[in-house]
Amino acid sequence: MAVRCFVLLFALLLCFVQSVPVVLESSSNQTINIDEAIKATGYYDREHRPVFEHMEGMDWQHVLDLSECNIKQQDIIEDAFHTAAYVILIPTILDGGKIDLNNAWNRFFMNDNEAAWGYGWTTRGDRGRVNKDAFEAIVGNFRKAATFYPTGYVEGHWVQRSQIHRLKVRCKEVYEIGRCESRNTAAYVTEPLKDEDGQWAMTICPKWFTRRVESIVDVGKMWKTLDNLPQMMSREHVILHEWMHCDLPKFRQHIKDELWFGGPVNGAANSHDFAWVNAFRSDQITPAEKPAINLRVETNADNYAWYLTNRWFEKLIEWRDPSRGRDI
Ligand SMILES: [Zn+2]
Repeated sequence: MAVRCFVLLFALLLCFVQSVPVVLESSSNQTINIDEAIKATGYYDREHRPVFEHMEGMDWQHVLDLSECNIKQQDIIEDAFHTAAYVILIPTILDGGKIDLNNAWNRFFMNDNEAAWGYGWTTRGDRGRVNKDAFEAIVGNFRKAATFYPTGYVEGHWVQRSQIHRLKVRCKEVYEIGRCESRNTAAYVTEPLKDEDGQWAMTICPKWFTRRVESIVDVGKMWKTLDNLPQMMSREHVILHEWMHCDLPKFRQHIKDELWFGGPVNGAANSHDFAWVNAFRSDQITPAEKPAINLRVETNADNYAWYLTNRWFEKLIEWRDPSRGRDI
């Protein structure tokens, strides 16, 4: 299964690079037609259904307005959202929903076996129930995002979605003017109250289009080991992060940037430390001091985005991960 997943992802990567149909040999000598493989996921293929005519969870009206987004920006947006839609499929489609059986989970959410008995995600008892509910919410949140943005489905239902139920994308700052000037802001999501049509909106800042942020495909060519994960920020990573802030997929709770030590939890190292904040308690005298998971990761956007980025690179490049997700 792992081999087949790798072949599929590698094939998807090839599709980004060249948009002609690609045929690869799998290890079992079974020929895989990439277009067929992509269609089998239930999503779209780029050649026949371009991003701007598909992705039922998104509203592209402002992107397609040349007075707002120029041709070059349109191209970058189409490419990045197309790739982001594949990255977000990894937990549900390629990993079959088993999101906690890999190093990326340990790194950004923490494995059960790192916690004391009764303090993990899937243990029993009263605390166990709370933790398990949070675990299932996180699994559900990945699934909901992976379903809503490409298809417009929410909780198993699809209606011809009115514009108001789509996330609109903007190249110009109209909601919180000046927010793009902050050094770390490449994009941001605003709630319906701020928009003249009452929609959720994602504003893409000028720096997202520049070489300061690369595509995830180019990032994968530059870095080859896990040691560089904190630098492996990509345009797609920004999209995945912002997608988690929008409530349209009906996540269990609103997903924000959690505050910790006076600042938002952003970046791979910070997100990892946040997930592991309760892990290194050596003095186990009282229950509160036992190594435990951190429930707040459920509502921190960058833990989701880094998990997805980590999984993507695990699948695509020669990934050396000696710490098995315990370090960064
Ligand atoms: Zn954020």
